[in-house]
Amino acid sequence: MLEDKNQSKTSLAELGEFGLINHITKYFKVEHKSTVKAVGDDAAVLDASELQTLVTTDLLIEGVHFDLSYMPLKHLGYKAVMVNLSDVYAMNGKAEQITVSIAVSNRFPLEAIEELYAGIQLACDTYKVDLVGGDTTSSTKGMLISVTAIGKADKEDIVYRSGAKETDLIVVSGDLGAAYLGLQVLEREKQVFKVDPNNQPDLDNYTYLIERQLKPEARKDISGLLKELEVKPTSMIDISDGLSSELFHICTQSKVGCKIYEDKLPLDPQVISTCEEFELDSTMVALSGGEDYELLFTVPISDFDKVKANPNFSIIGHITAENQGLQLITRANQEIELKAQGWNGLKNN
Ligand SMILES: [Mg+2]
Repeated sequence: MLEDKNQSKTSLAELGEFGLINHITKYFKVEHKSTVKAVGDDAAVLDASELQTLVTTDLLIEGVHFDLSYMPLKHLGYKAVMVNLSDVYAMNGKAEQITVSIAVSNRFPLEAIEELYAGIQLACDTYKVDLVGGDTTSSTKGMLISVTAIGKADKEDIVYRSGAKETDLIVVSGDLGAAYLGLQVLEREKQVFKVDPNNQPDLDNYTYLIERQLKPEARKDISGLLKELEVKPTSMIDISDGLSSELFHICTQSKVGCKIYEDKLPLDPQVISTCEEFELDSTMVALSGGEDYELLFTVPISDFDKVKANPNFSIIGHITAENQGLQLITRANQEIELKAQGWNGLKNN
């Protein structure tokens, strides 16, 4: 875990901006027919033909959204792409292009930027998206990354947050809370390391949690899975800020209420054991943890048989009338009103 003091360091000033862009983009290849022109002109040229275009962007700032003391740069590059692809998939679209803009202070050598772009490239290769543009500039302090993802979809296939109807089932993909707990584990190890730098952390019990925090995967597969099952969600959103907060978005925009059941929330065994160790309530973590990048969607109740047995999905509740509000039914069969506290809410507690 010790830093290699002999690694080569090339200052960014030696390359200049165009040199840097050429250097970091030369290994990226273009895959999509819709990418008419990628990097290398004043603007990229994209051809969406008769489909609708989806555009989403995210800005990540060192010290606010990521901490480089435990986030390797390659993972950061990968994750910065994932959070944007996740938003395209949440519209039931296909992501085909990204742009990446970075600002870095002079504490980062070329080798650091190469690491970051290695993660971005891995994401592009794995998820089949083309890097078509971006910008690099200097910052006075720290690192900023902004990724924009561009996708496309048939008009009829796009799923908005606003289409949930009373009696619809509420479904989530994967499991919840692991990424938040991964962050708690990493923060704890950082504090231990500050006190005793020779302490080698034993993270074997937390591998899944840490992977979910450092290398999340966007659910590109869900759209195809639903098509195979002949299910079209009535509403959909990705879980970036926490289940509660995403349910609020769907209910507000669809003008409905909801009931979800504590005993239906999908939790990995590592989430349960780590919650016990950290004395955290696993239901709170699942509701407010955030950064899971799973998809939350609603389907008509007539599709119950199609989704109930699928191992990728958990039916966690159903949509109610707007005046019923948002309710959690506990294991003890009590009704508790849900609060919109997402990831930030939990962090401030
Ligand atoms: Mg989103």
